[in-house]
Amino acid sequence: MFTAKQWAFAGLLLSALLNSSTAAAAPACVDLFKPSQKQSLEARVKSTIKDIIQNERSSKFTDHFTYLATKEVLNRKFQNLLDEAGLSVRESWKGFEILPEGTHPLAKMTRSLNRMGVRVVISIDLWAKGAWGAFDVSSRTLFVDYNTVATGKVDLTMPHEIRHAYNEMRSHFSEGSYERVFQTKFIAFDMPNQRLPGMKGLYEAYFTLDEILAHRQSAVLTLRNLQRNPLDEQMMEFAKKHGERLKQFADSGLSILTGLKKIVEAGNHKFTLSQEAGTDVVGVGIVVPHSRALLQELANDTVAASLLGLKAEVSVLQSELPADFNKKSMQQLLLSKLDTTIAELEALHPSINEFFEATKAMEQASPARLAAAESALRRLSETIAQRRKIMQLAEQTLQ
Ligand SMILES: [Zn+2]
Repeated sequence: MFTAKQWAFAGLLLSALLNSSTAAAAPACVDLFKPSQKQSLEARVKSTIKDIIQNERSSKFTDHFTYLATKEVLNRKFQNLLDEAGLSVRESWKGFEILPEGTHPLAKMTRSLNRMGVRVVISIDLWAKGAWGAFDVSSRTLFVDYNTVATGKVDLTMPHEIRHAYNEMRSHFSEGSYERVFQTKFIAFDMPNQRLPGMKGLYEAYFTLDEILAHRQSAVLTLRNLQRNPLDEQMMEFAKKHGERLKQFADSGLSILTGLKKIVEAGNHKFTLSQEAGTDVVGVGIVVPHSRALLQELANDTVAASLLGLKAEVSVLQSELPADFNKKSMQQLLLSKLDTTIAELEALHPSINEFFEATKAMEQASPARLAAAESALRRLSETIAQRRKIMQLAEQTLQ
């Protein structure tokens, strides 16, 4: 459990990062390496990361002893470079865990995240697999993105991942009911090239609805950058990508949830329970094996026709579990959770669509297009704030 003080600190940390997160926004706050040696240190960090990845990739073709010896040397070199940048780490099975020591900005950030039970890890393996940064809910680990480590500048990915961490943490509290709704996860399973209905790319086999909340925030930062530099092509690409993804999460989420509701109503599912360690949150899994019901309700596109099974998980507080625990009472709980989640997604859908349309045609961030995207995003943010408030008020009335 977290104390109120730590809790408030999380909010502070997040807002501090949001205000200083982009290189263009606040250059004074974002240099993580010593300025005098920045160039050479940056180049050395990058080339060492490249060598580590190369060694991993060639491990199949080299003899094991050489691979291990090279790995050992490179890991030590990398650790020394981080040390030179003022960052202490310890090797763990997941990569290099950042220690909360010293005045380096990442160390300071680690200090406050550690207090909230979140570890901060540099995982080169993860970068080699094509992911930038990540937050792993089950191990409560925040994986730092490549750019932040390689260039010494806090990248846009960091605030996104910290937002996931923050939302997950809020979802553990009774007042975090809104965030809890968005902890709903979908997993396609049991097939090669598994894909969720309507999903493409990075999130096709697994995603959490929390991506909607985190992508909204990334979109805000991206548009803020575009306002400052309307010709930044990379930011324009990001804005479009956020629009596409937000729409994908909302569309796919709605269609999966609607299908799931019918499957649960008909009783064509199994459920599982998993307690999240150290919290009052229970993950209720809805498992739908490959069946006619699954195909009928969820195979509304050609991709899902090859979906062999689906698992969804909703987060509930332990106190919400029925006292008379059986399939029927769990079915009722699940149906009410699915209804709530569908209603929340429906509430956000219009402004997400509007944002998608506004960013789709963004060849050039003209003032008019930027204004349209901003106003759609503002509407989305306002709707989220309102819905969260309504849900909290309802909670308080019930208590
Ligand atoms: Zn994310």
